[in-house]
Amino acid sequence: MQIKLLHDLVEELAGENTGRIVDILFGKKNVNEFLIAKKMDLTINQVRNILYKLSADNLVSFERKKDKRKGWYIYYWTLNTEKCLMKLELSLVNKIEKLKIILENRETKRFYVCKPCGIEVTEEKALDHGFSCEECAEVYELSDNSGPIRDTKAKITRTEKSLTLIKDELELIREKARKKKARAEKKAEKEEVERKELMKQVRAAARKKVAEAKAKAEGKTLPVKKTAAKKKAVVKKITTKKVPVKKAVTRKSVTKKKAVTKKKAGKKVVKKKGKK
Ligand SMILES: [Zn+2]
Repeated sequence: MQIKLLHDLVEELAGENTGRIVDILFGKKNVNEFLIAKKMDLTINQVRNILYKLSADNLVSFERKKDKRKGWYIYYWTLNTEKCLMKLELSLVNKIEKLKIILENRETKRFYVCKPCGIEVTEEKALDHGFSCEECAEVYELSDNSGPIRDTKAKITRTEKSLTLIKDELELIREKARKKKARAEKKAEKEEVERKELMKQVRAAARKKVAEAKAKAEGKTLPVKKTAAKKKAVVKKITTKKVPVKKAVTRKSVTKKKAVTKKKAGKKVVKKKGKK
């Protein structure tokens, strides 16, 4: 992070000697405003004043928490790195534009200077005053533009370098954010699939429960509804049950042998029923 550039930006926005707040906030989260005041040797109101100015551009954000003991609110401040970089980017782009206008003027226009006063004027202004100084009446001399041209070009190069650094950092932060978002989306997608699967299981379990309850209420109907193979088995069960019931009356008087033959007869009946 271009801390020095951020310093300058903060001072541009919040006034002289405020840039050091960047050192306190940078790389941290929710910094207690009383701590900031202590470190900057400022009153809490002075600190809030700086931070409110910065929050107008969303360069900082805050969380408010009530102090349980004292009953007032304490603000916790966080530097918004991406917003700071965006603001810096804009500020540098504007600066470069202004420097380019200055360069163009120096390359295409004439300036005049009064050496004793050290005052430089545009050609139009020099013309207005008959090419003599407004203050001391000394005759203006033509300015040498080569120095200002060289200086301005150097400033442009420097500012463009800073702009590239800021853009790179911004891209890094955005790439990070994109990856984070992609991860979150993937996770949400997975959770949705799992949730659907779970709902399916829950519904299936609920259906089974209802079916079982219904079957219980209606007696032996549930197994009948199942597969054909089970149907046969049930019919067998019913008939074999029926037979012993009829037998039961006779069982008391009739011998074991007779009961066995009757069972066989019952089975035959079942087979016939199954073929039907
Ligand atoms: Zn003069």
